Amino acid sequence: MKEKISNLLETAINSINSAESIDVLNDLRVALLGKSGSVTGLLKGMKDVEPSERPKVGQMVNELRVKIETALNEKIAFIKEKDLEKRLLSEKIDITLPAKRKKVGALSPITLVKNELIDAFSGLGFEIFEGPEIELDEINFQKLNIPKDHPARDMQDTFYITENILLRTHTSPGQVRVMTSKNPPIKVMCPGRVYRSDDDATHSPIFHQIEGLVVDKNISLCDLKGSLEEILKRIFGDKIKTRLRPSYFPFTEPSVEIDVSCFECGGKGCKLCKGTGWIEVLGAGMVNRKVLENCGIDPDVYTGYAFGIGLERIAMLKYHVPDIRMYFDSDIRFIKQFK
Ligand SMILES: [Zn+2]
Repeated sequence: MKEKISNLLETAINSINSAESIDVLNDLRVALLGKSGSVTGLLKGMKDVEPSERPKVGQMVNELRVKIETALNEKIAFIKEKDLEKRLLSEKIDITLPAKRKKVGALSPITLVKNELIDAFSGLGFEIFEGPEIELDEINFQKLNIPKDHPARDMQDTFYITENILLRTHTSPGQVRVMTSKNPPIKVMCPGRVYRSDDDATHSPIFHQIEGLVVDKNISLCDLKGSLEEILKRIFGDKIKTRLRPSYFPFTEPSVEIDVSCFECGGKGCKLCKGTGWIEVLGAGMVNRKVLENCGIDPDVYTGYAFGIGLERIAMLKYHVPDIRMYFDSDIRFIKQFK
């Protein structure tokens, strides 16, 4: 019996020592100490042992169990430690490697100009109205006094979805949507994207405008000039002068182009103002009687002014952007300059 015990101890310790994984050790634990394991089997042989020897043999079997248990636990702890060491080595972080920097962009100059304008117009009491970019022909053109076959449609050729549904060519349909849903006094700005079949260094098929509309009793061209002068000074600086030139838009009468004195040369003439001393910045005018009528507003009681500002153009002037396509190139070097 004593021999059996020492043999079992020897083979058990050998197996434990040569085991290389925790799974193998767990199997060994079952095979040695489990219900039908070898050590338990020894106890079953106790009936053949002399009764006087039994307590001693019993103690030896118990010692055997403790030794095997201890050997198993030590080996498991050893393997766990080795695994951890291996993992730490394989997951080592080289702190001398340069970090991956996240590239941070900046707000587009168009957004900067838009925010600046919205801020300025809000200060004058304008509310924001945003209309849909997919618009009805009726609202984009007809109610604005541009019937089908009107020559002004040539300048605003766009993308048609059906014969009567199109991508809006300007933010002016916002005027119609506000006037047909609200009674004067009206004072709104409509910022947004617009679309035309244009594509060159100064024209893009997609661009941005801010439309302004004021309708009330006794609104005159002086109100238009005063408000816009205020806004343009905020954008281009206090020193600029403004002038109104006669122009033509179907939806305003009279219509004007508003120029600012060149903020580069102070009006002396330079490359930016093409030697004229003046820079054209936006189109405006008094809302055409017909447009007011089309929108259900009595033109004998109310008058109004409207204007449209091209954001790309303002940003090009303000930030000296030579080509409109740079806005849409997603070049981080371009955008970073506006941080
Ligand atoms: Zn100039």
